[in-house]
Amino acid sequence: MKINIQNAINQQINQEQSAAYIYLGMSAYFESENLTGFASWCRAQYEEEIAHSMRLFQYLLDRDGQVILDTIKAPRMHFDSPLHVFQVALKQEQDNTKSIDKMYELASKENDHATISHLQWFVDEQVEEEKNVSECLALIERAGDDANAILYLNDKFGERTAADIE
Ligand code: MG
Repeated sequence: MKINIQNAINQQINQEQSAAYIYLGMSAYFESENLTGFASWCRAQYEEEIAHSMRLFQYLLDRDGQVILDTIKAPRMHFDSPLHVFQVALKQEQDNTKSIDKMYELASKENDHATISHLQWFVDEQVEEEKNVSECLALIERAGDDANAILYLNDKFGERTAADIE
């Protein structure tokens, strides 16, 4: 495996771990606000991002690459509102999509077919991730300042578990 591909994958492992940590911070924020449904939704996202990083971790090992783990920044712990959380979450997913696209372009340029094939799953997954977070954001926008609507959404979001997702 070429060193630039290995570097990009290691960077993406860090990105996925960082995304997980950001969702964990969001989950703690919601717990502190007694919005346990949103908290559990964010915790499911946390687990999903960890699973993404592990796919890349295993891929590097399978290709005899070297795993190099880097520092993970402390996540934001305070937010203005549920709306604010989902705005940050959508931006993060959009940034992650860009990062995966860049990795895909690099693998294509280097004619690394195995990496292209492995990354295809991530390309498809990001479509789902952006769609899910966008839909959540739209519902929270619609709820606005209506406390009953927010509590209803909190209950609905709480029905989702990590088992529902990949
Ligand atoms: Mg991810």
